[in-house]
Amino acid sequence: MIRVSVNGYGTIGKRVAWAVSRMPDMELVGVSKTRPDWEAALAVKNGFRLFVPDGYAERFEEAGIKPSGSIEEMIAESDIVVDATPSGVGARYKPVYEAAGKRAVFQGGEKPDVAEASFFPLVNYSKALGKRYLRVLSCNTTGLARVIYALSRVGELRRVYGVIVRRGADPKEVSRGPIEGLLLESLPPPSHHSRDLAEIFPNIEVLTYAVVAPTTLSHLHIIFAEFREPVSASKLVESLHEAPRVLVLDDSIRSTAELRELARYAGRPLGDIYEVAVWEDSVAVKGATVSLAYAVHQEAVVIPENVDAVRASMSTASEAADSILLTDRILGVKSWL
Ligand code: NAD
Repeated sequence: MIRVSVNGYGTIGKRVAWAVSRMPDMELVGVSKTRPDWEAALAVKNGFRLFVPDGYAERFEEAGIKPSGSIEEMIAESDIVVDATPSGVGARYKPVYEAAGKRAVFQGGEKPDVAEASFFPLVNYSKALGKRYLRVLSCNTTGLARVIYALSRVGELRRVYGVIVRRGADPKEVSRGPIEGLLLESLPPPSHHSRDLAEIFPNIEVLTYAVVAPTTLSHLHIIFAEFREPVSASKLVESLHEAPRVLVLDDSIRSTAELRELARYAGRPLGDIYEVAVWEDSVAVKGATVSLAYAVHQEAVVIPENVDAVRASMSTASEAADSILLTDRILGVKSWL
């Protein structure tokens, strides 16, 4: 059993902790919180051990929450830490993990140099094997990478241009925006997603623009991909159907709102969608150029890759497919519709 702890129990941390707690080859040591809020109270109610910064125990106990120890103690009990603290805080924790001699998986909000490799299991699992520090791609980059991977199985891809319509905030983030208007991000282009993808797909030119929109439900991407040779639409759709962690939607769903409602109604935990959801009707082919649109549920999409990153760093699954199949079977990926 791999002993995993989750440092930072917010949007990503609570989902990683839940996923880890269900994996047959992993044991959740516990999760950490810095504030005795509802997330901390629910972590304990859900049966997770809660760890807090040194000297904070009294503050939590006064709020009726009993911590199990300090964050340092949690790290000491673990084989590996999934760091899901806010962007930039993970890098500040890295020396703590190093001093404790522990491995760590960081999130896409950290700079790439926090880790030995940025991790996308479908392409670079073997390169990540045994690395002490891995960084999972951001939610948008993970979405792009999964779709580019599916497309690249149909023919040789030369370039991908895309517009990322990014959700302004997660549903719980009341102080983020915009609450009106569309905000052009990362000017001049490309947005940071292109830089990360250059590491994963060095032979494909990727250029992305990002615009922040007043929505919390999902991101939506529209991309144009250029192959060396003409490709067939049916082969592309087939490849998308077969690709891991990609869902193909029919025309009964036209919006991210209906998509999230579907996930909630289907009983997905927290209404989460781990898959990238591609609209089949959006797939348009003209010779060697293809366009398509898909949604990326930002709160959930990177959870399977976090689980795979733990196995890759620990070298407990030597092949990407072994880890991906196990993660996806336990999380019900692509089997809930
Ligand atoms: P979040 O704010 O929801 O959660 C972060 C948690 O860390 C909070 O519970 C906070 O209390 C806790 N925390 C803050 N400082 C801490 C400290 N010093 N020690 C321990 N815990 C601390 O953030 P999030 O949205 O879950 O993002 C976490 C990381 O995941 C970031 O790198 C982000 O870029 C990345 N990410 C976020 C999303 C998303 O859509 N939310 C998607 C993919 C990746």
